[in-house]
Order: sequence, then structure tokens, then C-alpha cells
Amino acid sequence: MGEWSDRVYRRSAGSVGARLRLSGSVVLVVGRGAAAEAVAGRLTAAGAEVRAVAGCLADAPGPPEDAAFTSAALDGVSLVVAASASPLADRWVVRESSRRNIPVACVRAPETGTVDLTEAAEVAGVRVDVRTGDQRLDRDALGRVLAAIPARYERLGAWLARVERSVHRAIPDTARRRRLWDRLLAGPVAELVLRGHAQRADGALAAVLAGDSACAAGDVYLIGGGPGDPDLLTVRALRLLRQADVVLYDRLVAPEIVALARDDAERVYVGKQPDRHPVPQQRINGLLVEYARRGLRVARVKGGDPFIFGRGGEEIDSLMEEGIAFEVVPGITAASGCAAYAGIPLTHRDHAQSCVFVTGHRKANGELALDFDRLVRPGQTVVFYMGLKGLEQLTDGLIRHGMAPCTPAALVQQGTTDNQRVVSGTVGDIAALALEAGARAPTLVIVGTVVRLRERLAWFEPDPAHGDVNRFAARAQTKKARRE
Ligand code: SAH
Repeated sequence: MGEWSDRVYRRSAGSVGARLRLSGSVVLVVGRGAAAEAVAGRLTAAGAEVRAVAGCLADAPGPPEDAAFTSAALDGVSLVVAASASPLADRWVVRESSRRNIPVACVRAPETGTVDLTEAAEVAGVRVDVRTGDQRLDRDALGRVLAAIPARYERLGAWLARVERSVHRAIPDTARRRRLWDRLLAGPVAELVLRGHAQRADGALAAVLAGDSACAAGDVYLIGGGPGDPDLLTVRALRLLRQADVVLYDRLVAPEIVALARDDAERVYVGKQPDRHPVPQQRINGLLVEYARRGLRVARVKGGDPFIFGRGGEEIDSLMEEGIAFEVVPGITAASGCAAYAGIPLTHRDHAQSCVFVTGHRKANGELALDFDRLVRPGQTVVFYMGLKGLEQLTDGLIRHGMAPCTPAALVQQGTTDNQRVVSGTVGDIAALALEAGARAPTLVIVGTVVRLRERLAWFEPDPAHGDVNRFAARAQTKKARRE
């Protein structure tokens, strides 16, 4: 692997690729069989006029219906693809084509050709070609690269063309102009363009050109970091995180997500413990304003979704007051993440037509301010956030207000992560089961008949190397069975 990647790296790092326009050009494919057919099909799809000949040597007897490769077959051809089953024949085709200065690609031994066939696609105005040396990897790598291109990227091209002249006039120095373009494209101005606010982007650009640091103040990205599995971050969240100069993050944000920020980004932990608030909310609001005023791009990353039990509204309220630009990037909330990874659909035609998200957080006096009557309705799934401490109070409340104690309930601890644990039971016994199992925050409690579906639908198997997941579940099950 080392040698392979080293070779590819040296061949491609910082190099320039050239692209042959296939549409309308004549391409000669030499060879028979699956490889030749596949490449001919793809070249035709790309708009080329494909001529095919068998891959036998000129002086070797070929099947009568096939034209054998001769030098004359190269006349009027702008690309040759050697795709025969014989390395000897391929070599000959490459040599003949090179001698006539016709670009030639070789399917079986790409490094012998003078051009490479790449896996290519176009999205949002960006043409991407990749070549790894392995067609399967090419397809995979192409998918990964395409995923990194923002939707509506083509808007940037139109905007650049429009502002080009004014920037040129304001900054005649080429090197300085290039630095400015780099900065603009990786920052809030480009974000405005991508979101369709070209006029606001013009204003921001004018401020930058005028050196107006107040208007050129940074902005804040309020990002939902999802429930735990770092792969559940959105594409936009990742892009903005990579742009941030400073990252303020909570306790529930996965370390792998914080690690995605740039190496030179400042990282500030503003986490809260369930009953302690080491950095008061006011202070966090103030920090966001302070950093943005210094012209920095601030990523404020919160667990789950910032607008679901996340106080995201309060944070942007103060930004709004201070006139600081921000955007909100939704995240996968714990209820969606935990339910999905526990195999519990939150709604289901046969079980639940609605789903409520409820905070089980108790007030300072230990009371739960919940409207239990609304929670005990049939055909409804109830999801409790922050409900572990007051779980007994919660379930007692539900039963007192008419919920059948045998209603299924599940507790999901550290959902979506390698440490996910699920305790299944009923409203009547889930609090006791959680206690026995030594459940610890963060946990989410799902109540409703949908929980039963887990018996058939559970699919996610947390990494057994990470703790006693299965023993935990098994222990809870055995204790439950013993009691019954
Ligand atoms: N904004 C977050 C919720 C913050 S409140 C969101 O949208 O998910 C914090 C509560 O979320 C925790 O007490 C717990 O109830 C729940 N929670 C967050 N991540 C969780 C996880 N991975 N597993 C279980 N519960 C989780």
C-alpha cells in the first residue's frame, strides 16, 4: 500500500491534468471481450465516435469478421484505447499510437499509456475526474469527492464573473488578489452566495474591499453536531466546521467531530454537566459575540439539533441583537438518532400517528412541569430527553394519568455510539431496570407500542470491544425475566 500510494502521490501531487473532449472525437478501441466492450460503451455514452478493432497483431490471423489492428486503423483517430486480452498486443498498440503522436490509454496497464482514463462526473458545475489505479476505488473516491462539493456551487461561478472587474480595480496586485479570492471562497461571503443572497454577498465584499473591519466582522455558525456517531454530521456542518477559526463545543459533541476542525482553529469547551453549568449561558452568548467582533468565523457546535432542547434560540437571539451574521445548521436530534439505531420507528401506521419530544428535566424544587394528560394519548410515541434522574417520577406520572403500566418503554444510553446500550421494558418497570443496569446520562426514554418493533427491527450492533453492551442488555433481560 505504501509504495502504491507513494507512486500515485508522486505522479499526481500538484500536477496538472489535461482533459480531452470526447464528444465528437473518434476513439479507437483495440481488443475484444468484456473490458473492451465496457470501455467502448462508456466512451460512446460520453459522446465519442467509437471504432472497434480486434486486438491481434497485424501479422497474426484474426477472426475473419474482425478488422485486426494495423497502423492504418489509426488514421483520423484522436484517442486510442488498448483493451486487448494480451499484454503483448497492448504494448504494440501503445507503441504504434505513440509513434504517431496519438494519445493512448491502456486499460490493463494504465501506467504504460500516454493518457489516463479516469472516472468522471459533473455536479453543480464542477467536473471531477479521479484515478486511483483501481476502477472500484475510482468509483468510491469519486463519490467521496463529489460529496464535498456544496450544492449550488455553480452560483459561485456566476458571482465571481460578476464581481471580477471591481475586485481587479480595487486590488491590482495579483498575489494580493489571489489571497483575497482564497479567503472569500472559504468564508462567509461565499456562504451567502451559495444560499442565494448574492446582493448581501456584494455588500460584504464591498466592506472587505473598503477595509471596513466592522462590516467585515466574522459570523457564527450554530451547528447541530448530531447525537454521537460522527458520521451523522451533515455535509454543511462539516464544511462550516472546516472554515471556522474558533470552535465552541458542548459536552455531548463527539470528540471526533471537534477533531474535524482545522488544526489551527481555537477549540473552546463550554460544556455543561447535567446539574452544573460551568460556563453560564450568558457567558457563552457573550463569547460568541466577542469572537465574531474580532472578525473570526465561529462554529458553535451543540449535540443533536441546536433548536431541540439546545438553547440555540437564546444564543442567536443575542447575535441578532448585536447585528452579527449567523446561520443555523440543523443536526440529527437524539430522538431520531437513538430511535433509528435502536430499531424503533418513532411513528408507524399500526402504532403511532404522532410523536412528542418532552424534557424530563426537573425544576430546582425537583418538580416536573409536565402536562401528563397530553402525554398519555393513544397512538402517540413519547420521547423523554434528560429524563434519567426523574425517571421514576415520570413513569409514575404517566401511570397515574391513565397510561397502562404494560406500555412498552425503552431507555437508550449513548445512542448511535459504539457504547450504545438499550434497556427495554415497560412503563411499569423501566425505572427499576435502568437503576439495576446502572444507566448513566446521556439517556433517552422512548415510550409507546412502537418500542415493541425493536424485537424485529434492531439492526445496530455496537462495537463489542467497547464495554459490556451485550452483558448490560442481557443482565437487564434476565432480571426482568426473573421477576416475571
Ligand atoms: N439538542 C440535543 C438535546 C440536548 S439535551 C438534541 O437535539 O439531541 C441533552 C439530552 O439529550 C440528554 O440528556 C439526553 O436525554 C439526550 N441525548 C443527547 N444525545 C444522546 C445520546 N447519544 N443518547 C441518548 N440520549 C441523548
